[in-house]
Amino acid sequence: MPDDRPAKDQGPAVGPELSAEEFRRHAHAFVDWMADYYEHVEDYPVRAQVEPGDIAAKLPAHPPETGEPIEAIFQDFKDIILPGMTHWQHPSFFAYFPANGSPPSLLAEMLTASLGAQCMSWQTSPAATELEDRMMEWLRELLGLPEGFTGSIQDTASTGILTAIITAREWATDFAVNEKGLGGDAPLVLYCSAETHSATEKGAKIAGIGREHVRKVPIGAERGMDPAALAKMVEADKAAGLRPFCVVATLGSTGTGAMDPLAPIGEICKAETLWLHVDAAWAGSALILPETRAMIDGIGHVDSLVFNPHKWLFTNFDCSVLFVRESEYLIRSFEILPEFLKTREGERVNNYRDWGVPLGRRFRALKLWFVLRSYGAEGLRAKIREHIALAHDIAARIEAAPDFELVTPARLALFSFRYRPPDIAEGEALDTLNEVLFEALNDTGKVYFTQNRVDGDYVIRWSIGQTATERRHVEAAWALVQQTARALQT
Ligand code: PLP
Repeated sequence: MPDDRPAKDQGPAVGPELSAEEFRRHAHAFVDWMADYYEHVEDYPVRAQVEPGDIAAKLPAHPPETGEPIEAIFQDFKDIILPGMTHWQHPSFFAYFPANGSPPSLLAEMLTASLGAQCMSWQTSPAATELEDRMMEWLRELLGLPEGFTGSIQDTASTGILTAIITAREWATDFAVNEKGLGGDAPLVLYCSAETHSATEKGAKIAGIGREHVRKVPIGAERGMDPAALAKMVEADKAAGLRPFCVVATLGSTGTGAMDPLAPIGEICKAETLWLHVDAAWAGSALILPETRAMIDGIGHVDSLVFNPHKWLFTNFDCSVLFVRESEYLIRSFEILPEFLKTREGERVNNYRDWGVPLGRRFRALKLWFVLRSYGAEGLRAKIREHIALAHDIAARIEAAPDFELVTPARLALFSFRYRPPDIAEGEALDTLNEVLFEALNDTGKVYFTQNRVDGDYVIRWSIGQTATERRHVEAAWALVQQTARALQT
């Protein structure tokens, strides 16, 4: 440090600013707590075992008039907040999709928070921009995406999907909607499968497409979008004077892990001049495995793709990545340049504020850099392979159990099942039995599943992907499922 710094102001005697020594002491105590937390995370109930209002009842109704010591606030964190947390890093978290973090990612988050940088443009933190450039290149290579795909890091897949839909809208209307608004022209129509995550419908609503113009294409083989049905719907819409403009295909649907067939869908998109976006929020991480890459056969016609390293690539929430084939369309859709945002570097650099909705941006590339370097590609592949193998193994055991039914097969590391004892008839009674089983399992605090309906039947969805999940956790969960289910019958 150069020694021409101005002398320190003594400052006011009150306030939360800690001296360097106090900060160091608290930070060390926090790090100790964090290390203990990870060491003992499986001792906590996976899903918070509280009722609505329990936590709020313990929080003062009014803000404090005078400052409080960090020790007191930290104590309340442990006593009040922690019991109301669902432990996403618990190795028996089998609900939703994972949000799997890792120690290197967490360490990087500490640095990011310390820097407190707002990385909207190259100039506001050149290293953040250039590291993000490089991380996007690394990810493109790791995932086997085509040369030329570029993109940026977003907060969530929902934002990435919205960004892609808006870009598609502008591309399809020669950038007219941005200028004139959604005027009197024929409505634009978007297509996705009946299995698509609600984020697509939400994005279409926000982008002004209107829910009425979101077509849910029926599913065909292995629950993927039926391309023949897509082609028919596009024809019918054109005949009705509407303007088909975009297809959102899913790799790894949230309910059942289904894969939409990109190659035939891409052919239709090419023939009909439709933007093809791929939502691979969860399954995208598995593209680092050469053996699962067949899911992107047909990537040649894809215009954009989103996936979440914060789901299954050991990078703490939040970190979602949006790739585009032509960044020009994306930037033209989002760029806005008031005088105060202009910087002298101009076109020589990427200014990621122009690559999506928010102006302000967190330095998310840093944690990806830590994760990719500390695991290495081999380390990441080994972890994901292990999750997939565990899922296939347990799914096979469920299939073999006489009183259980594997309802959807293990696709990557997701499957669904239900309890199906021989004396209960198909229908409402079986649904109710499984609903009771599902709630009973989650109430134990030992596991956390989510439910789904597959062709109307109530099923329990089992997703494996937590960083700390080992065979013993999955086997203990399967034993608990059987024991709890059979006890319901007695
Ligand atoms: N797409 C799919 C396939 C998902 O499974 C999810 C969430 O689980 C999303 C989109 C939305 O993700 P996010 O929470 O990052 O917005």
